Amino acid sequence: MSGAEVSLRSVKKSFAGRAVLHAVDLDIAAGQFVSIIGPSGAGKSTLLRLVAGLEAPSAGRIELHRAGHKADVRLMFQEDRLLPWRTVLRNVTLGLKGRDREAEAILRAVGLDGRENEFPVGLSGGQRQRVALARALIHEPDLLLLDEPFGALDAITRAAMQLLLARLLAARPRTVVLVTHDVEEALLLSDRVLLIKDGGIARDLMLDRPRPRHRGDPALGALKEELLDGLLTAEGSLSAVA
Ligand code: ADP
Ligand code: MG
Repeated sequence: MSGAEVSLRSVKKSFAGRAVLHAVDLDIAAGQFVSIIGPSGAGKSTLLRLVAGLEAPSAGRIELHRAGHKADVRLMFQEDRLLPWRTVLRNVTLGLKGRDREAEAILRAVGLDGRENEFPVGLSGGQRQRVALARALIHEPDLLLLDEPFGALDAITRAAMQLLLARLLAARPRTVVLVTHDVEEALLLSDRVLLIKDGGIARDLMLDRPRPRHRGDPALGALKEELLDGLLTAEGSLSAVA
């Protein structure tokens, strides 16, 4: 299976003495698609930033393994973070030389052929996120980290982006960690869903439903209820503390 393995051992993260993550132990297999859900402020983005190496843990160890070479890790956020003064093509080839053919191919794969020479300002939110996805994927990352990448999109565009991501990953599997507040999105896309609350992993749910998945699948409906219950309990426990 292609992709990086990720392992977290007793990972703790505090900010100014306040613990956000207690002692997180987690093993992600190569090629696994893991979604992270949890109430706002639970530490989902912090966990992603730790795995990305953008933050150092306060205690514990995080390791990425990829046979043969150093794991390439790419991130994508809710904001597209495109450079407005660069064309679509030049946003995708940022930091790369002589990769125009590949960039054109990947822009075709995300449905943006013919838009290479436009500037981000002329694109819709969904199109801009397609450019951001193309910019991540041109690197063939072993680990793709997505922090609510479709969170700002309207429902129809979000559904289209979910299908696109599922299709691209089916063609080229890699390890993915997706933070999302959309339980349905987690269930449609993932092999595994983690619920983070109270500084740790409260639920670790493996999904073996066949792909492509459908929103109407009753088995997914039951899991959605279960996860929403877990989330709502978590929101309740937070407001009880506040
Ligand atoms: P989530 O993504 O689940 O909404 P975050 O991981 O962004 O939550 O944040 C978890 C908690 O850690 C929040 O209380 C947030 O304010 C705090 N936090 C995150 N990053 C920092 C930082 N750089 N400095 C101080 N506090 C932070
Ligand atoms: Mg966040």
